[in-house]
Amino acid sequence: METGALPVALINKRRVLDNICRMQERARCSGASFRPHFKTHQSLEIGEWFRDLDIQSITVSSPAMAQFFMANGWDDCLIALPMHAGAVPVYNELAPSRNLELLTDSVVAVQAVDQALQQRVGLWIEVDAGYQRTGVPFHNLPALIELACVIEESTHFELRGLLIHAGQSYSCKGKEALADLFADQMRRLNTMRTALVEAGFDNVRISYGDTPCCSGLDSLTGVDELRPGNFVFYDLMQENIGACEEADIALAVSCPVIGVYPERSQVLIHGGAVHFSKESLTYDSGLTIFGKVVENQLNGWGNPLSGCYLRGMSQEHGVIEGTEDWVKQQKVGGVVTILPVHSCLTMNLLRPDFIEVG
Ligand code: PLP
Repeated sequence: METGALPVALINKRRVLDNICRMQERARCSGASFRPHFKTHQSLEIGEWFRDLDIQSITVSSPAMAQFFMANGWDDCLIALPMHAGAVPVYNELAPSRNLELLTDSVVAVQAVDQALQQRVGLWIEVDAGYQRTGVPFHNLPALIELACVIEESTHFELRGLLIHAGQSYSCKGKEALADLFADQMRRLNTMRTALVEAGFDNVRISYGDTPCCSGLDSLTGVDELRPGNFVFYDLMQENIGACEEADIALAVSCPVIGVYPERSQVLIHGGAVHFSKESLTYDSGLTIFGKVVENQLNGWGNPLSGCYLRGMSQEHGVIEGTEDWVKQQKVGGVVTILPVHSCLTMNLLRPDFIEVG
């Protein structure tokens, strides 16, 4: 695909490789194994860039994504979505002669899935980081021990340890806030691990994975496995948190210009919610944006253009508010390049086609 026909993802491979190597090194220095989340790119080609760096273990966010990657040689895969009985046919299809890992916070799910499974699989207990999406609450040690005992009594599960996604790191600003959040999570996880060890469970590992903490902290001591995903591309949200620099962002979107309106300082692009999602970012100044305009370059993109932002969104249209000079230079049929607010959702919407640049 070429730029100009449709909105298209531009991927800077050099930056992707740098981002992967940095995270791989951070895991190594923290004494943790590395199981990157592939939901961010969902691409076999980008998967090969990981494999070239000797990364063999992956995380995915759905049974279908596990089928996609495991059919293509990824034999060590964690499905990081609570398991349920409806997906057992997929677990049974994937588990033979490979390492399939699942997660749960539910006694009911363990009993129901155990009955229908045909193979042994690894199982993580998900811990609620405090934002109440999924997971056993930190303070509920009796529920934790009960769940571990039901797993122990099952026919098909092997307890791997405690898994957490501290999604509230997306509300943090700066390294200090991330360090405080991480320390708090680790204190609680260690209390839970100790309770399990005292109840007779050994080899309880800790799996940790959110890009802000995994990127923003110098050390993640105490973690046994690291599973961030977004770090592969980063985005404006991560830059605003302080998890990356703008120069680390490895994904931009090239969008055709479909209208130019100097009288209201706006440019309309083909690039809307079906390409970027409706995820927005509000800066401390109060400015809310859906993306930032960057310089077009022959093989990629350059610096952000001051005062030019993606500010409005409908299904296919995007509204850019720009400076008077920049708007005057735009032409219908040209292209504008945009850094997205959230690269995971953007790539999910634009894949499988992307253009490698840089
Ligand atoms: N693990 C789990 C369970 C997740 O839900 C996610 C993201 O939603 C990740 C890991 C990766 O986190 P991030 O997107 O911050 O890299």
